[in-house]
Amino acid sequence: MNIGIVGLGLIGGSLGLDLRSQRHRVLGVSRQERTCQLAIARGVVDDASVDLALLTAADVVFICTPLAAISSTVHQLIPHLSPTAILTDVGSVKLSVVKTIAPLWPNFVGGHPMAGNSESGIESAQFRLFKNNPYVITPTNETPPTVTETVENLARSLGAIIYRCSPADHDRAVAWISHLPVIISASLIGACLNEPDPAVLKLAQNFASSGFRDTSRVGGGNPELGVMMARYNRIELLRSLEQYRDRFDQIFDQIEREDWQGLAQQLLINQQARPRFVDPKQELEF
Ligand code: NAP
Repeated sequence: MNIGIVGLGLIGGSLGLDLRSQRHRVLGVSRQERTCQLAIARGVVDDASVDLALLTAADVVFICTPLAAISSTVHQLIPHLSPTAILTDVGSVKLSVVKTIAPLWPNFVGGHPMAGNSESGIESAQFRLFKNNPYVITPTNETPPTVTETVENLARSLGAIIYRCSPADHDRAVAWISHLPVIISASLIGACLNEPDPAVLKLAQNFASSGFRDTSRVGGGNPELGVMMARYNRIELLRSLEQYRDRFDQIFDQIEREDWQGLAQQLLINQQARPRFVDPKQELEF
């Protein structure tokens, strides 16, 4: 298959490495000439250009630009696409992307590979980034089944675990497990910085170990990604933050009233529930 990738960064570059290793012909387009040259040199793509016309021969195109550039990229890409080309994207928010792109190109299905790290750019591209991680495909009632199946098969070939849901359900679910944690973790770092005594703050920085490393990791990542999540998934993020604020107030109240039994009960429920989120062997029961 001829596969096009627009946006040769962490996700686009990693897709290129894996798909090329499966003998697909991978054509890459990125914003900067330097990125295109690096992508060729690193074996991420067979050919690369800053010109979208390179993708005329593509059977499937993955849009891997930042969320803010997806719509303008697709508008510029469409005049170059073959009428049968299948289009997908990898953006971390789906409803706004699908609402914008589906009317422009019927052979489109949204997707979200739920893999990544705090790095960005072509230098961070790596083999097998998607292996054993969820890859969510978000068709609508209008999406042609063959389009969904083609993208699913490609995602499956990366070793990813395929999930299918509506764009709206995707955004609501990722608000809980991805976007809300970023905001809570960011607030944690911000709150610590409010310690008024510089000597105590220094001590806290020296004492910080694995617990703080775990809980501050997602809030101390790429600010651009955090803003994109909040901007493009604002409604669902606000909904989850409201629920979080209720829970937080409840725990605050228990501590203020020295309701240790109530607090212990809540923490026990949390201890039992956590494996359902983080242990893939646990069946979800709701
Ligand atoms: P990234 O490493 O910053 O890569 C994005 C690349 O897109 C940049 O390297 C840039 O290449 C290129 N680019 C920017 N604007 C462009 C434009 N207008 N036209 C063509 N290329 C352009 O970002 P990423 O982490 O791969 O994220 C890309 C997408 O994946 C986003 O939509 C994000 O929501 C989604 N995603 C990210 C993660 C994650 O954890 N990082 C996980 C899942 C999904 P140049 O070097 O040429 O400027």
